[in-house]
Amino acid sequence: MNRNDIVKDPRFAGIEPFENKVWLSSPTMHGEELSFVEEAIRSNWVSTIGNNIDQLEAMTAEYLGVEHAVALSCGTAALHMCVKLAAERIDPDAKPGNSLMGHKVFCSDMTFDASVNPIVYEGGEPVFIDTERRTWNMDPAALERAFALYPDVRLVVLTHLYGVPARMDEIAEICRRHGALLIEDAAEALGARCDGKNESGMCGSFGGYHALSFNGNKIVTGSSGGMFVTNCSKDADKVRKWSTQSREDAPWYQHEELGYNYRMSNLIAGIARGNMLHISEHIAQKKAIYERYRERLKDLPVTMNPFEPNSAPNFWLSCLLIDEEAMCRQVRGKTDYLYESEPKKTCPMEILDALSAFNAEGRPVWKPMHMQPLYRRNGFVTREESGEENAQAIDVGADIFRRGLCLPSDNKMTAEQQERVVEIVRRCFL
Ligand SMILES: *Cc1c(COP(=O)(O)O)cnc(C)c1O
Repeated sequence: MNRNDIVKDPRFAGIEPFENKVWLSSPTMHGEELSFVEEAIRSNWVSTIGNNIDQLEAMTAEYLGVEHAVALSCGTAALHMCVKLAAERIDPDAKPGNSLMGHKVFCSDMTFDASVNPIVYEGGEPVFIDTERRTWNMDPAALERAFALYPDVRLVVLTHLYGVPARMDEIAEICRRHGALLIEDAAEALGARCDGKNESGMCGSFGGYHALSFNGNKIVTGSSGGMFVTNCSKDADKVRKWSTQSREDAPWYQHEELGYNYRMSNLIAGIARGNMLHISEHIAQKKAIYERYRERLKDLPVTMNPFEPNSAPNFWLSCLLIDEEAMCRQVRGKTDYLYESEPKKTCPMEILDALSAFNAEGRPVWKPMHMQPLYRRNGFVTREESGEENAQAIDVGADIFRRGLCLPSDNKMTAEQQERVVEIVRRCFL
């Protein structure tokens, strides 16, 4: 159906399209951002050194309770630095650009591909670990099984999806037992806590290596940007050096190692620094949005993206999973899709089309990496062995992708706007 057909569909009678688009998750500026950027420009510190960078690093480290933070150009760069550090630990003589050659690396399967690509930048081979229903994150049981299948693996890259903490106690313990290093992709999870009762346990403070993102749609933004955080001063020094072209301490450009241009600009840092002052407010807004959806959709055949009762997500995106019985027929090709509307049933693409027709932005959940053409030859490990009959049933990631979607979760969305979004979603089930 096209936009007009949907708006005229009698199911949606009486609903007005939004005059201003309701976004999935857009940047929220407050004012301090501008003053810090202005300060940088007035003082002429607009390059990759300056007070905003120092302040942002200090406040991020303090917020997470870690020793060191290194501001970088993006979260992907931070992940690349994490991967390089881990690779160097696994084999100190490994060749840069190919430092994971011959190594398989266990990765979250339902994630953004930026989480995985840095492994390939270093010549490694991602092997995807299926998702658990409890948190939509890496399934510890599948990870355990993966180590039984590939006992030589030394590195795991884990994403905290949509700001919901993974079960880090279990995952970290499994990694320890198998002598594997752990990289935490906390790009979506700044401010989320694995243990909500405890002041510690911030996402991005476990394991060995941690990456954050200040990309435009993340909970705190610098318009772009990323951060490497660690308790290891040597690693922090290495990332500072590598990310600024690996210059040696010499009067001229002296190079002994391969370098990268990954440092954050002091202007970007000004935006992120100003925005970071509002992290608690952003989390509270996102949480209220999540709870409102949960309350207002609770009589529908759906569930929200789940989290462990003792964890404290940052609620970056609110997501919906449609019960199997309420799914209409939906097929997706490489880039296109089809569905067949049925009474009392719907599917993610129908809801997303309806939202879009009324000028609101939702999104399918991340398409699992093992379903991506780019990674179709890579391994994929589920918690149970796949057989002819239950092959569909045990691929949890594929199932969540089929039945799940991200709802508009912008922290500037008003309660009234959200009420209209809820109404659109509800009408899809008529
Ligand atoms: C956004 C994101 C990244 C990449 O961050 P950039 O700053 O855009 O490079 C990596 N992993 C996940 C899970 C993300 O959501």
